[in-house]
Amino acid sequence: MNFAQFRPYDIANGIGIRCSLFVSGCTHNCPGCFNQDYQIFNYGEKWNYKIEKELQKQISLPQIAGLTLLGGEPMQNLEGLIPLLRRLRKFLAKNNLDKNIWLYSGYTYEQIINNRDKLELLNLVDVLVDGLYIDELKDPTLTFRGSSNQRIIDVKNSLLENKVIEIDL
Ligand code: SF4
Repeated sequence: MNFAQFRPYDIANGIGIRCSLFVSGCTHNCPGCFNQDYQIFNYGEKWNYKIEKELQKQISLPQIAGLTLLGGEPMQNLEGLIPLLRRLRKFLAKNNLDKNIWLYSGYTYEQIINNRDKLELLNLVDVLVDGLYIDELKDPTLTFRGSSNQRIIDVKNSLLENKVIEIDL
């Protein structure tokens, strides 16, 4: 898996101060895509031990609320992200750290839960911001979203209750 950018401090993509990881590669090709370079799967750097250690160190800081995964398209980087999140969850549990994981995807919640592999990644996150960015629905007043079709979803409770439960922000 390649990543385009790792931000150790980010306040634009989820609640609180967060680490954010922009993975490379996306085939959605949305008109008005915020960064077309990130659509290329081999753009940026290969995920490696050094950056994973940096993520672990950073997410351990008390002021950091968690990690946000963006792209590119995280749901098209399953081979890299599923094992990475498993390792991270293990690290957080071992060190008794209460952090949350957000994921931005161009796929909708319904598309994700109907795909076994994508659902496996969804099961490892707490909050999903779903749906493609649609330029005509762009709304700068929205919190943590670009366009009004996108939803901020409480993943654990949605899976538990078998319906989409949005977080009202
Ligand atoms: S999903 Fe994101 S990265 Fe992919 S084309 Fe759309 S805006 Fe660009």
